[in-house]
Amino acid sequence: MPERNAKGALRTSPPPRLALEMIDVNKWYGDYHALRDVNLNVAAGERIVVCGPSGSGKSTLIRCVNALEAHEGGRIVVEGVELSGDVRRIHEIRRETGMVFQQFNLFPHLTILENCALAPIHVLKTPRAEAERKAMAYLEKVRVADQAGKYPLQLSGGQQQRVAIARALCMSPKLMLFDEPTSALDPEMVKEVLDTMVELAEDGMTMVCVTHEMAFARQVADRVVFMDEGAIVEIDRPQAFFSGPRHPRARQFLGEIL
Ligand code: ADP
Repeated sequence: MPERNAKGALRTSPPPRLALEMIDVNKWYGDYHALRDVNLNVAAGERIVVCGPSGSGKSTLIRCVNALEAHEGGRIVVEGVELSGDVRRIHEIRRETGMVFQQFNLFPHLTILENCALAPIHVLKTPRAEAERKAMAYLEKVRVADQAGKYPLQLSGGQQQRVAIARALCMSPKLMLFDEPTSALDPEMVKEVLDTMVELAEDGMTMVCVTHEMAFARQVADRVVFMDEGAIVEIDRPQAFFSGPRHPRARQFLGEIL
C-alpha cells in the first residue's frame, strides 16, 4: 500500500531520514540573545554550509548541536536522539557527531596514531589493535599515515587539521560538524584540508560546515544557510544563493567577501 502523508496525499518515496532537527532553538549568553528561533532540518547525506558575518551565531549554532553549548529554548534532535540535560543523551549524541574545530585541538603529548585511537579505545571499548588499524586506515585516507608516529606540533597546520578530521572519523560518526576548519591555516594549506572535506562529502557524509570558503560551498553544499544577528535569515541552494541572495544582509555579506 502506498503511504499517505499528513495531508492525505500519496507519498511516492519515503521521507528522507533526518540527521539533525533544530526546532525554534534559542540561546542566550547572559542578556545577549545569541540564537533566535533557529529552525533547521538536515537530511542524512546532506551537506550544509553555514555562513554569515562574524558574531552572527554560526559557531554557537554548531556548538549547540553536540552540547558544547547548552540551548535554552526549543528542541535539538540528532539522529533521533533529543538533547536534554541528561548526560547519557549528551554522550550518545557526541558519539554520533564528529567535530572539527578551527584550532585543531589534538592532544600534544600523544602521537598522531594515539590521538586517533584514544576515543575508540576508551569510549567505544574497541580493542587497541583494531582501533589502531582503523586509525591508520583513516590517516591514509587523509594522506598523513606517514606521520603516525609523530607528535602534533611536529606537523604543519594543514596536516594537523587532516589528523583532526581522521580522529573524528575514527568514531564512525553519522554527522560531521566543522567550525571554520580552515580559518587558522596558512593560505597554502587551506586547499589540502578542503580537498579532504570534498572527498568526505563525495563519500556521502552528512556535514554541517561553518566556513567562509565560498568556492567550497558552491562545489559541495546542498544548501547554504546564511545567519545574521543570531537568526537564520536565508536558506537556499548554492546556485540561487550566490546568484541572487534575497536578504539585503546576505547581499552585503557576499559583496564584501566575494
Ligand atoms: P560567529 O561564529 O558567527 O562568529 P559566535 O557564535 O561565535 O558567532 O558568537 C555569537 C555572539 O555570541 C557574538 O556576539 C559573541 O561575542 C557571543 N558569544 C559567543 N560565545 C560567547 C560566550 N561564551 N559568552 C558570551 N558571549 C559569547
